[in-house]
Amino acid sequence: MTLLHKATILIVDDEPKNRSLLGAMLKPEGYRTITASSGEEALATVAENPPDLILLDVMMPGIDGYHVATQLKANSATRNLPIIMLSALDDRSSKLAGLSAGAEDFLTKPIDRAELWVRVRNLLRLKEYGDFLAEHNQLLKQAVRGQSEEIMERKRAEIQINRLNRLYAILSGINAAVVRIRNRQELFSETCRITVEHGHFKLAWIGSVDAQGELTPIAWSGFNEGYLDKITSYIKDNGTNSLLLVAQALQKKTPVVCNNFTANPKLTHWHIEALQRGYRSMGIFPLIEDDQPVGIFTLYASEQNFFDMEEIKLLTELTANISYALEYIKKEEKLNYLAYHDVLTGLPSRTLLHDRLIQALTNSHRHKDKLGVLFIDLDNFKNVNDSLGHHAGDMLLKQVAAMLSACMREGDTVARLGGDEFVVILDSMTSENDAWMVSQKILKFMTEPLTIEGHELLVTCSIGIALYPKDGEDAKTLLQSADGGRNNAQFCTSEMNAKALERLTLENSLRQAINRQEFLLHYQPRVNMVSGEITGMEALIRWQHPTQGLLYPTKFIPVAEESDLIVPLGEWVLRTACKQNKAWQLAGLKPICIAVNLSARQFKQQDLAEIIARILKETGLDPRYLELELTESMVMQHVEAAITTLTQIKAIGVKVSIDDFGIGYSSLNYLKHFPISFLKIDQSFVCDITTNRDDAIIAKIIISMAHDLGLKVIAEGVETEEQKSFLHLHCCDEMQGYFFSTPIPAEELEILLKEERCMPTTKPRLL
Ligand code: C2E
Ligand code: MG
Ligand code: MG
Repeated sequence: MTLLHKATILIVDDEPKNRSLLGAMLKPEGYRTITASSGEEALATVAENPPDLILLDVMMPGIDGYHVATQLKANSATRNLPIIMLSALDDRSSKLAGLSAGAEDFLTKPIDRAELWVRVRNLLRLKEYGDFLAEHNQLLKQAVRGQSEEIMERKRAEIQINRLNRLYAILSGINAAVVRIRNRQELFSETCRITVEHGHFKLAWIGSVDAQGELTPIAWSGFNEGYLDKITSYIKDNGTNSLLLVAQALQKKTPVVCNNFTANPKLTHWHIEALQRGYRSMGIFPLIEDDQPVGIFTLYASEQNFFDMEEIKLLTELTANISYALEYIKKEEKLNYLAYHDVLTGLPSRTLLHDRLIQALTNSHRHKDKLGVLFIDLDNFKNVNDSLGHHAGDMLLKQVAAMLSACMREGDTVARLGGDEFVVILDSMTSENDAWMVSQKILKFMTEPLTIEGHELLVTCSIGIALYPKDGEDAKTLLQSADGGRNNAQFCTSEMNAKALERLTLENSLRQAINRQEFLLHYQPRVNMVSGEITGMEALIRWQHPTQGLLYPTKFIPVAEESDLIVPLGEWVLRTACKQNKAWQLAGLKPICIAVNLSARQFKQQDLAEIIARILKETGLDPRYLELELTESMVMQHVEAAITTLTQIKAIGVKVSIDDFGIGYSSLNYLKHFPISFLKIDQSFVCDITTNRDDAIIAKIIISMAHDLGLKVIAEGVETEEQKSFLHLHCCDEMQGYFFSTPIPAEELEILLKEERCMPTTKPRLL
């Protein structure tokens, strides 16, 4: 017999570069290589100095590879010489042409080194058996003819020959299957069938092993009679590891053989079942992919001691070939997958979409069904990319893809066309309305915010719908009209700009902020103009945003107002302010009034007075230490209702002030009908009080008219000594502003209160 690694391989290729590359690839495996640069030279070399295997290029000037193969296979002297065709073509027909010319195998350029090794090794092994068989057949014939041998000797030779015939049949059958089959399940079934049919086994089965190490039989052939069902349910109850021999094979990644089934204590559980079916020996061969056991190939024979060294060697090699085929299939599947799928989202790509659409159209045409195509485009996806980065953009696309897939029925196709465009094919719809329903479902899903790298984003989309046959009868027209439908905004939702996106993001995180206790209050003291003493304070809300830092109310109060979140938020502010004020009083500090801003939405609440009363009761704060700040517009909008509410509030004993006075109606005439206590002059007047004559005059008038009505006046936003002086001079009662203190955390205000800090007062001077 030829020793495998000393085999001589003839490389036939017209390209010198290819010849030396193949030579270099084969060298580490210990083969001897000779070369030929044309078909003619190859034939001459084979006649002169026959190799063990030929690697034969298809495309060559002169006699091409197909002709060389045909000639060699037609000649009985060279018929058994294995040929592997090499070609740059990867189409089925050239492969078939090569195989029908007699080549045993086919490799596509560029040649993968590992693949080359496996194929070469395989074929050499087959040739080895073939040569051996031919030789022994010859000997046997001579022996029979001469009748000079012992009967026993003849018998033994016969058995040996039969056995080799068997092995040869299995190996060549499996080899052909490995070359031909590109599908896992089919390969497994064929392997089982061939081994049982040609190998005279009672039963062969293949089980796959999942990531958790659990075994599931997936293919079998032969005499089973419920044996595999028994194994499956045994695994279900006891786990794969309770099949001791299987576990051993998987752990050690080596074959495990039992040549006397009923004598093996590890198989006690199976003795009876096996005997009933006539299984006497068993071999378990692990299938290895990337050095990991991915399955087992198990064989049962009706004879004891069936698995000898030769048999084990062959079956081990056979499983190695299957393992290799599995790896190859995986690689091919991946390439196929990549060609037809979008890498980022895993959705079908444009190419696959096209195929599927054509197929769906054929079906719809045949069954006279309707079909819908939705063209979905994310609004302002670019903004997300620009503001949060491409990684966030990718994450968003992935989530949208998952969401779209979840909206669909099985059989519908969701594809990504690229960028932020998605297409959905709705197969065999019962009515045109279906497409509309699905688009509504998608839009509804889209109202839920997506969390992308900690940012909550509300993504909206535009959806265009095209229906077959109404809007088009072929793929191209349908896609175009769905896209067009989108631009006509037929089913389009909102148009979004960067501001709106930001607003929605904010609204989403606001929702969570209350539960997550991200809000806090700062307190700004107000002081008496004359004595400089702290007379009260205003509670001002702050939002400790998880990523954006401390946010001020102008940034989020308007959003909260629009979304009704202001109601729970406002209640929280009231409760927290009252609780804090009460705590300070309990700590023995001088009782002062706390002012809380109310929003318009809160003021409209029917039960506002009840809520306030309840909170006061809960916190134990005396109503006279609570003041509510309303704006003029809030009370002027629904005068009647406002008077009712204000009267109720006053009845509880809570004071009311008009905030930001001067920028709205500024109608003191009206205000006199309302039960209010203070007017707060808006800081926009105070700001220019010393530089702008008009502002100065307005401020003066407000102060004196308010006093006429019996209202006290508080100036907001006092920042400078000059402003303070002016207000003092014009008899403003109290002031609030950075000049004395900015709004500060509770701990800091507590210090001011404890120290009874006062504003330095100087005699006002005329400017
Ligand atoms: P506002 O009620 O007129 O509050 C006064 C605003 O002026 C506060 O801004 C305060 O920090 C700022 N301020 C105080 N002194 C000075 C100063 O000397 N110079 C300048 N330039 N500004 C000064 P803030 O805290 O940003 O609040 C803005 C507005 O948000 C408030 O105006 C109020 O309308 C609203 N707000 C604050 N807290 C709440 C709340 O709990 N609920 C509701 N509904 N609205 C609130
Ligand atoms: Mg205020
Ligand atoms: Mg104000």
